[in-house]
Amino acid sequence: MCSIALICDGIGLIVRPMSTPDSTPLVIIGAGAAGLMAACHAGERGVPALLLERKHRAGSKLLMCGNGRCNLTSCLEPDAMLADFGDPLEAFLSPAITAFSPAHLQRWFEGNGLPLMRTRDGKVFPRSERAADVVKCLSDVLRRFSMPICYNAPVERITAGDGGLTVQTRTFSIEAQRVLLATGGVSYPKTGSVGDGQRLARELGHRVRPYRPGLVGIEWSEPWLAAHRGQQFKRARVRVLDGEQCIGETTGLLECERWGLGGGAISNATRLLSRLDARQPGVEIVTAPKQPPLRIRAVKMRPLKEAMVTVGGVDLRDVSPDKMASTVTPGLYFAGEVIDVDGPTGGYNLTAAFATARLAVDTIAREGHYTPPATKARPRGQRRSRPDRRRHAAPRPPGRRPR
Ligand SMILES: Cc1cc2nc3c(=O)[nH]c(=O)nc-3n(C[C@H](O)[C@H](O)[C@H](O)COP(=O)(O)OP(=O)(O)OC[C@H]3O[C@@H](n4cnc5c(N)ncnc54)[C@H](O)[C@@H]3O)c2cc1C
Repeated sequence: MCSIALICDGIGLIVRPMSTPDSTPLVIIGAGAAGLMAACHAGERGVPALLLERKHRAGSKLLMCGNGRCNLTSCLEPDAMLADFGDPLEAFLSPAITAFSPAHLQRWFEGNGLPLMRTRDGKVFPRSERAADVVKCLSDVLRRFSMPICYNAPVERITAGDGGLTVQTRTFSIEAQRVLLATGGVSYPKTGSVGDGQRLARELGHRVRPYRPGLVGIEWSEPWLAAHRGQQFKRARVRVLDGEQCIGETTGLLECERWGLGGGAISNATRLLSRLDARQPGVEIVTAPKQPPLRIRAVKMRPLKEAMVTVGGVDLRDVSPDKMASTVTPGLYFAGEVIDVDGPTGGYNLTAAFATARLAVDTIAREGHYTPPATKARPRGQRRSRPDRRRHAAPRPPGRRPR
């Protein structure tokens, strides 16, 4: 794999791989869902890589997914999932999600030691229902490939030169043959996704679509809400409106909160309003059959920082869908939410992040003629032997009983 050398050039540190004297074959920026999967797949495909992360740990947003349970993907076939993304994402994501389908994704995680469970409505979670186990699974794969990760390394600049790209962090710079930007959207900025990738892409000449909140609640304070506060409606139907025109429909959970309305049906409706650029955003809600519809005109969404997904980002026209490569800067690739990609609730967004990351790395591996390392693969399903706890246990202090 890629071992690195730190060289002080009198101004700052320069990171150089020891295997290749000139530049690192691949620098992945961002250790979220997309960056972690990209680094795992770089290991699998034998692409020497270095992963840079702005925060002190990996996968901060992943840990929050599905209320800490992490809805990894869905049981849908690729075509059905792609159709739910809607235009223009259906066509854009088709090569990535066809190549790394929800079924393939499930096999990958299970094959790497993460047992999964499927709910009746077709959502897929880790069997432990712990998002932390997803991050652990990805980290275990990275450890197996000795993939170098550098934390506390916010990338501040990327410059394109004749021989490749220079990636500059606050404290060191790296020459890279290829760079994969996987810095996420701009919601929940405390998780590290603050829009750096979009800024870096813009500086290199890419178009960036304006940010809007996707998958977020609606602020509302009518008397109906006061009477139903705290209630849930499991099969609500929401007509999504632009003025009088119906531009979509969502169904599912509706939750009456202190500040307004939330739940899957509302989240998906706000995503449609943002994605379809509704000028006069409205919704019409039927909470249960035979109930009169509630109409909310001039919908006010909760702020972007609270959204589960960012609508907007690097313009799809500047990314090739079959390679995830920039059409503006040779050697630059994109994966995940940094691109103007967003999906409904139900594991769509993680599926898109993982699948675009794999496609980018597959392209890089193919173009660079890298060969997968010869590994002593553990047969699927076979557990690693556990050390004999009794033999290795530290002696118990006298007088204390084991709990
Ligand atoms: C509360 C919540 C719940 C969600 N639940 C689900 C769910 O159950 N299922 C689902 O499919 N989706 C869910 N999502 C959406 C999903 O989490 C995101 O779509 C997905 O994490 C995007 O992955 P990403 O790798 O593109 O970005 P992120 O996961 O945001 O990762 C980006 C990484 O890049 C790093 N970074 C940023 N800038 C720099 C820089 N300059 N230098 C170095 N590193 C940098 C960040 O620190 C971060 O680690 C949820 C989102 C939220 C907020």
